[in-house]
Parts: sequence; structure tokens; C-alpha cells
Amino acid sequence: MNITPLDPWIKEKTNGVDLRAWQLSKLNETLALARSKSAFYKKHFEGLPETLTSLDDLRQFPITTAEDIRQNPLRFVCVPQGEIQRIVTLQTSGTTGEPKRIFFTAEDQELTIDFFGVGMSVLTEPDKRVLIFLPGETPGSVGDLLRMGLERKGRKPIPYGMVKDPFHALDVMESQQADCLVGSPTQILSLARRWKQKNKAPRTVLLSTDYVPAAIVNVLESTWGCKVFNHYGTTEMGLGGGVECEAHRGYHLREADMLFEIVNPETGEPVPDGEYGEVVFTTLTRRGMPLVRYRMGDRSRFLLGDCPCGTKLRTMEKIRGRFSGFVRVGNETLKLPDFDEALFPIQGLLNFSVTVSGSGGDESLLVEAKMLTDEDSTREVEQAIESLFQKRKIIKCYHSPNEVGSLLKRVILDKRGNDGKSL
Ligand SMILES: [Zn+2]
Repeated sequence: MNITPLDPWIKEKTNGVDLRAWQLSKLNETLALARSKSAFYKKHFEGLPETLTSLDDLRQFPITTAEDIRQNPLRFVCVPQGEIQRIVTLQTSGTTGEPKRIFFTAEDQELTIDFFGVGMSVLTEPDKRVLIFLPGETPGSVGDLLRMGLERKGRKPIPYGMVKDPFHALDVMESQQADCLVGSPTQILSLARRWKQKNKAPRTVLLSTDYVPAAIVNVLESTWGCKVFNHYGTTEMGLGGGVECEAHRGYHLREADMLFEIVNPETGEPVPDGEYGEVVFTTLTRRGMPLVRYRMGDRSRFLLGDCPCGTKLRTMEKIRGRFSGFVRVGNETLKLPDFDEALFPIQGLLNFSVTVSGSGGDESLLVEAKMLTDEDSTREVEQAIESLFQKRKIIKCYHSPNEVGSLLKRVILDKRGNDGKSL
């Protein structure tokens, strides 16, 4: 097994200085920059120490939230406007309805390109052809930065963009003889479901998002006989946070550029290694818009023990869900990943959504499942949803044609007994 390429890369970036000592010096630089140039942090850090003597001291600093950014993103910016190369606007369902804006300088983007090139070396060799199913038309977009990172490492990137027509995407996969695919879990799943045995299968796949259902990884690996790697990264992280190594045990993190903590979501206090909590990160090398103790809402933990790949870098367990991702129906509460793991193994299922209506114990649940064809397993979808709930019964199931080559099935779950009477 090869050691993660992040290991030698981080050693080089830190000039052989002990990683924690290097992080501490970068952290102090970041705090000084944020305090002097960001109106938000100037206020946020009032009364807190100027210089930290250990990484542990960071726990006194307050958490930064998505809401803080939404309220006034410009108050985070630490460089003159002219130095901002790219602004990413994230439309989220925040309480204020304001979008989040994240600002990057050219140097900030350079850090991402560098990480992408190194991270992709985990799953590609030089000259291999990498088909990128990520937005890439705009200069500085995620697909564009990935293309540059791959080119620098001698790989052959093929920018594609988001999949709108899966049949077209499959044609390109075949005509380009792609060795590796990069994209979001459900997009890549939609290709695997339609892929024909006679065509070339990719050898590796990188799934890029904050949370990857294990059920989707299983489908891809069994369809293509490929290896699936997870990448953990959000725009706030500068698009890259960490990537799995060949041991597939969890992510090794971009520790020269970022400091990750796992904290108690209630108190913001770090939890001991090995315990679950919420992922919080601090940027160490970004200048446009540094973020200090930014809360992700993702649930994970640092794994104890050494990684079989041989690195001494920390390993973060794969994200298994978000703190906010709960579905409550009556007195039953489920996590969204429960739906993922129950539904994605079903043959022909491409994607689904879950909506709860009603309140105060009188909720009903609507699951809309996008299926490959008409013949596909309606009963299996119903059974999978029913199996998740103990006291609910499906009262209605219907389907309607959706986009070309797929079908939408709607399953409504309500308070009914097995005999169909209201409980
Ligand atoms: Zn490893």
C-alpha cells in the first residue's frame, strides 16, 4: 500500500518543521491578519489573547457560523477588493435567506490547485484520463481548478461539467476511454445504473461532497469493479479539505493549510480523539477570507491508531451525516443517512427526496424516488421506507413520468394501521 501523497507534500510545505509547531505559527499569523483586517473578527475576538502558545489555546475562541458569513460576508474580507480573484455565492436555506459569499485571492486559489493535484495522485497515475463531472466553465470554478491541478501532475483532465443527459455523459466516458471519474455521488450513480457491460469501466472514482452514502460506494464498486475514493471539501474550506488514502479508512487532511477540530456541538469544546462531535476548521494559509473555528454541521471523529498506509498524519472518519439532517414523523426520528442506506441499494433507484408535512405528531412523509425505468422495483422502495418506521404504513403510492429514461415514484407514508384504518 502506498503512503498517502499528502504525507510528503505536507512535509515539504512545512520545511520539515514539526507539523503542530508549524500549524501554531500559521495560526498566530492568521489570527493577527483576521484581527487587524476583518471587521467581523476584530469584534469577535475582543478580549481574547493576541498570541497563542499552544494549539490548545484556540478552544477559548468562539465558533464562526454560516449565519455570521451570511449576515455580512464583506466584513470577513482581509485584502483590498482588487486582490479578490473569485467570489463564490452559495445559495443556502438560511434563516435570513441571504446567500453566503466566500472570497478568494489568486494565492488562495493556487493553494487549492496544489492540493487537488496532490490529492488526485492517490487515485490516478501520470497520463491517466480523468473525466470531471463538476462545474468548470468559469475560471476559478471547482472543475477548472481541478483541471489545472491534474495537468500539473501530468494527468489528462477532460472537463465535462454537471451531468444533464446521462446518456451523453456515458458516450463521452466511452469515447474518451476515461480511467477515472470525479463527481457527486448521485450523478455518478446515475451513470453506473445505465452503463453497459461492453463499455470501458473506470478504474477509480472520486466522489466529491461532504457526505457519501456507503450504499452508493457499494453500487459503483460492484458495477465497475473500481475503487471509490471519498474527498471531503466545501467551498468554505477552499474546496479541498481531505482525501482518503488506499487504506480507505477515512480522510487524511490538508493539515498544512487547515487546522481541524472535532468539538461538542453544544459547547464548542474539543472532544477527545476517537469521540464523535462536530467538524470545525480554521484556515491557516488563506489571505482573502480566513475563517477561524468555522462550524460545518458535519458529524465525525478523529480515528485512533496509525493508518495502514504508514502516515503519521491524522485520519478523520468519513462523514456519516449532518447534525441538522433529521426527519421527524410522529414520535419517530430518523437521520437522513438512514434513508440513503435503505434506498440506494435498490436496483434502478437514481435519487430520492424526503418531505415531511404537517406538525405536532400529525406528520406525513412524502418520498419521491427517481427510478431508472417503469419496471423497477416499486415494491422494494415501499418496503425499504416501511422498514425504517415502526408505526407507519404506506397509504398511497403512485408514479409519473419524469425526465427521459427515468420515472418518479411518490410514496406517502401516514398514520395508518395494517388494515388501512386510521390509528
Ligand atoms: Zn492512510
